[in-house]
Amino acid sequence: MDVLAVKGITKYYGKICALNNVSFSIPQGSVYGILGPNGSGKTTLLGIIMNILRQNSGTFELFGELPVSHVRRRIGTLLETPNFYHYLSGEKNLQIAAAIKQKGAGDIDKVLKMVNLDDRRQSKFSTYSLGMKQRLAIASCLLGDPEVLVFDEPTNGLDPVGISEIRELIISLAKQGKTIIMASHLLDEVEKVCSHVAILKYGNLLTAGKADEVLVNEDIVEISAKDLDQLEHLLNTFQGVSQVKRLEHVIQAVFPPGKADTEEVNRFCIDHGLLLNHLILKKKSLEALFLEITKN
Ligand code: ATP
Repeated sequence: MDVLAVKGITKYYGKICALNNVSFSIPQGSVYGILGPNGSGKTTLLGIIMNILRQNSGTFELFGELPVSHVRRRIGTLLETPNFYHYLSGEKNLQIAAAIKQKGAGDIDKVLKMVNLDDRRQSKFSTYSLGMKQRLAIASCLLGDPEVLVFDEPTNGLDPVGISEIRELIISLAKQGKTIIMASHLLDEVEKVCSHVAILKYGNLLTAGKADEVLVNEDIVEISAKDLDQLEHLLNTFQGVSQVKRLEHVIQAVFPPGKADTEEVNRFCIDHGLLLNHLILKKKSLEALFLEITKN
């Protein structure tokens, strides 16, 4: 089942088109990364889903229904960061959050354990590290046991330890069956944490799907010979090659990551009577792929 189905959403701020006819679906149980550079429309999209903003056109469904308020209550969000009281303990702050939300008062012990703050529950909020503050905010989202969690840049501003704690927490929440929708501008984060990804740029959806299908790195063997036509033809018959690209002076044979063997390619060409005058292996990283996808 899809937790969220976005259908042709467009949003303008005056003349700025923040989202342009965006459509994609989020399956239940996924950790869905909405990836894009600054200003690509991620926060706007999450704001629309959470009813903080209104789209100009398009619709979306939550759990197969129109997004009415009882359906929204099945979602916990960090979009509106809770205002915690600095002089009160983590536990007391959660009691206040539960009272405001009118849900989850009986969940406090459980959520403190889930975010690994049980042993610091009596400490004042002001004594928490940034990472602990963020974990308390996530604990507040978990009150009322929502099925879906929506996070906007959940590791922003944290140090490496805090970042890794939040990422581990997201992975563990997913293992407990939560669907997680998170915006991030960090390719590395999405790759480490997310099962699915949608890539946005200037409000346009560039691609969406399973992370291991969208974010594939690849090996490229760049080859040249006197007769490029013959070389191109021959490489298309080479086993294991996923794509043969003809550039101006060279041919690129694309292989799945770790699968390119330059010696094999060389031997294959010689065995077929073609002498190579150029042969190098290039590894295309995800970083390069992301830049390629999002460049002008
Ligand atoms: P970031 O990672 O920097 O937060 P984002 O991908 O979340 O970026 P949005 O914040 O959704 O992107 O912004 C998308 C576009 O809409 C940008 O061009 C931004 O300047 C514009 N925008 C966002 N909010 C407003 C607003 N309240 N008024 C006018 N323009 C806005």
